Amino acid sequence: MNYKTKTTGLAAAGLLALLTAGTPAAAQQKFVTVGTGGVTGVYYAVGGAVCRLMNKDRAKTGLRCSVESTGGSVFNVNAIKSGELEFGLAQSDIQFNAAKGEGQFKGKADPDLRAVFSVHPEPFTVLARKEAGVTKFEDFKGKRFNVGNPGSGTLASMEELLAQMKWTKADFSLAGELKADEQGTALCDNKIDGFYYGVGHPSAAIQDPTTACGAKLISLTGPAIDALIKAHPYYAKATIPGGMYANNPNPTETYGVLATVVTSAKVSDDVVYAMTKAVFENFDEFKKLHPAFANLDPKAMIKNGLSAPLHPGAVKYYKEKGWM
Ligand code: GLU
Repeated sequence: MNYKTKTTGLAAAGLLALLTAGTPAAAQQKFVTVGTGGVTGVYYAVGGAVCRLMNKDRAKTGLRCSVESTGGSVFNVNAIKSGELEFGLAQSDIQFNAAKGEGQFKGKADPDLRAVFSVHPEPFTVLARKEAGVTKFEDFKGKRFNVGNPGSGTLASMEELLAQMKWTKADFSLAGELKADEQGTALCDNKIDGFYYGVGHPSAAIQDPTTACGAKLISLTGPAIDALIKAHPYYAKATIPGGMYANNPNPTETYGVLATVVTSAKVSDDVVYAMTKAVFENFDEFKKLHPAFANLDPKAMIKNGLSAPLHPGAVKYYKEKGWM
């Protein structure tokens, strides 16, 4: 080794020591992003709550969490797979299909998909324009119906329902693919007669059109739905309580899934541990951040609706708490 190389090496080492000694946490900050859904849905509120609690510990963990509004479940699962997102919200049916390579993920199972916890129930919610003359889902035949945007879990679940009913999108005069944030206004503006949305309650996406133009919740029941529930572990009957929304005093019978938080095996245990801990150590605060979280129970959240393996960073926290 000649003298010159040696001094350069030493100088570099000295510089590195200078840079790291007493470095403020900000310089070592690591960014994590949570993929959600439309801003009037509930996923966006989950992401906001998670990041708010995670960022409280920023000085200690060096993690800076940010929320991204996205197309929904299918987009989030794909973006986690490609490493574009660290965390994402996904319907339990989408998590199941992505983990096992079924449905829209046929032959494309993601062996690295990991579950963190489940959150609120998402009843499939059908809304009709007051003047559309619709009292049951079948009445939408030949009408303008928004089936959900590409990348949403909503659209994927709608396609499963249509297949079970032996319908196709051609059974509607228009099968709209407007985003979740756009469909309420489109309904009140008479651009569509109804829409379908897998979402937690209450949600601004349903509050707006029920209040603004008296839109009606339509039940989803009958033999096709009974068959879906029987065939798939992730579906269950659900009820949207009467009076939750303006102009809809009666309960609405439907079926639904659970919202879940997913990540990748490639995300470090420390990061997943920090996010899990932030949520459950501040659980009372978390529950207050959106009315759809009011009835959440940690014991159910670490078990129900999860079909991908739990991430080891989450397991570490659940074991510390004696929950596993
Ligand atoms: N479940 C919806 C989806 O993945 C999103 C719901 C929400 O944003 O709250 O398509």
